[in-house]
Formats: sequence, C-alpha cells, structure tokens
Amino acid sequence: MQGWQEFSEIQPLATKMLQQSILKNRLAHAYLIQGERGTGKKQLAKLLALTLFCENRQGVEPCMTCSNCKRILSNNHPDVHWIKPEGVMIRNEQIDYLRKEFAFSTLESSHKVYVIEQAETMNTHAANRLLKFLEEPTLQSTAILLTDNSHAILPTIRSRCQIIDLKPLDEAHFQKTLLELNVETLDETKSRLLSALTTNVDEALEMHEEGKIYEIKNVVIELFQVLMHRYDERFLFVHEKWLAVLTDRAEQQLGLDLLMLACRDLIRHQVDREQPLTFFAEDDELFEQLIIHFTNKQLVNMLRLILEAKQKLMQFVHPTLVIEQLILQF
Ligand SMILES: [Zn+2]
Repeated sequence: MQGWQEFSEIQPLATKMLQQSILKNRLAHAYLIQGERGTGKKQLAKLLALTLFCENRQGVEPCMTCSNCKRILSNNHPDVHWIKPEGVMIRNEQIDYLRKEFAFSTLESSHKVYVIEQAETMNTHAANRLLKFLEEPTLQSTAILLTDNSHAILPTIRSRCQIIDLKPLDEAHFQKTLLELNVETLDETKSRLLSALTTNVDEALEMHEEGKIYEIKNVVIELFQVLMHRYDERFLFVHEKWLAVLTDRAEQQLGLDLLMLACRDLIRHQVDREQPLTFFAEDDELFEQLIIHFTNKQLVNMLRLILEAKQKLMQFVHPTLVIEQLILQF
C-alpha cells in the first residue's frame, strides 16, 4: 500500500488539500470522492482511514505496521466499514445496518469511518436514510462516498459532502510502470490497453491474469469485421457472440469501454497519423482497413451512441436490449 507521498505523484491536488486538513485537524465529516475508474478512489479512502487510525503517524503518513494500520490494510478493522453494491445497487438494509452498527458502538470507540463504493447506485430511499445519518451530530464519524458518476448522486447528498475531484491519470506514465514490473506475457500492446482502463496496478494485474479483457477485445475486433463485411449479420452477432462472451453488466461496461477506445484510436488517426494507439497495434491490417471504411462522422456518431448505451446500462436497462439497440444503430 502506497502512502501520501506516492499518492501525491498521481493526485497532487487532492493530496495537498487533504494533507492540509489532516495537519490542521479539520477533516470533514463527509467526503465525496469522484473520479474515473482507476484514478485511485479506493486507495484514497483507505489512506484516509489509515491516517485517522494509525497509532504511530509521522506527520500525515500512516506507519502501515501498527495494529490499526494492519487491520485496515487487511480489511479487518472493526471501526472501518466498507459498503459495496449488493448485485446492482446499494440496498436500504445496508444503510440501516450501518446506522445500527454506529449507534451501538459510539460509546466504546472514538471514531468510525464508513466507505460507500459506487455511491451512485443508492436509490432515493437509501440515500435519504444516509442523509439523516450524515446529519446526526452525536456521531464521531467520517463518511467517504466514492463514485465515478457524480452526476448520479443526489444534490442533497452532494451538498453535504466535501467534494474531492480525482483527475484522470497520465496513461503513458502508468504504462511504463506496468512494463517495469516485468510480468511475463504482459507485453507492450496489453499494457497499453490496460493503462487506458485503469491506473491502479493491482487492478491492472488482476485484469491481465484473469484474461477476460482480451477475450472481450477479440469480440470487439470481430464486431468491426462484421460491420465491414457482414453488416446484415450484426443482430446475429449480438446474440451469438457479444452476449455469449460478455455475460454480466460489468463485462458489458468493459466491452463498451473497449469499443470506445477502438473508435477513439480510429478518430485520432484519421486526424493525425502520429497519435499513439491504445486499442489497435500500429501494424494492424484491420486498423488500416477500418480507417478507410468509416467516415469521421460515422465514428463520432458511434462514440455518442456508445456513451448513451453506457448510461442506459447504469440506469439498469436490460443489457440485451441496450446492446441490440446500440449495434443495430451502427
Ligand atoms: Zn500505523
């Protein structure tokens, strides 16, 4: 686990702001950490918890070795709670459970931290319950809400949180870091793709080892071939290939992310051949054909449709419907 020093290399502004609050002992009761996938949201939440509970803190830096630090690092600290969506959303019961938990134990311990991942998946009921909870003055607590879609967070929740913006990371910098790990089978092309999707080393390695991302990449490549050579078969392709390989909502999102990267490569290269590629390799024959096959206008339109599809997936429209509609409009 990296400390503030390392974190400041990837998120200098957020780090500076939080360090000042820590040193002045003026941390807020609620934070909303917003940033794209891979910008370090979870890492930052954990770092804040470590800083709050560490028994041997040096300045702002947690020691990472005391019993509190160890328990937080292994996700076993009784006063640090992580809430993740159960299935596709955070449920009312999860928020209720938190409230009870906190009400019981404030007598024994001085502080509690709760982290809510993908806070945008709370429905209005759960969010309202959370809101009441945030406003209880008797609780010594720090709430840390994480989201990569801050617009989906209720304004009433947003207004009660201090907002921390995490900036998208420098892909080239991260790709270099990945290659320097010298993982066998993790080559230039793969590291470039991973760097475009995350800037978290653990997440990148997990994706690489799991390998699903490369399967999905092949499906995206096949989609382009279908669009070029077997246009009438794209409905069939959706069912026989896309939906057969990409089986849950997270994989659909990943598939659409890859599709966006591919379109971005094509659009960039139509404008400037010197632009670096993320999805395709430089000597890819298919890539050359696609640049000629699609007009810039078509590609920009595809990008817009993909963004809409991603939004629909987040609003829980059925994935089959979303993907069918998307690909039929290409
Ligand atoms: Zn410590």
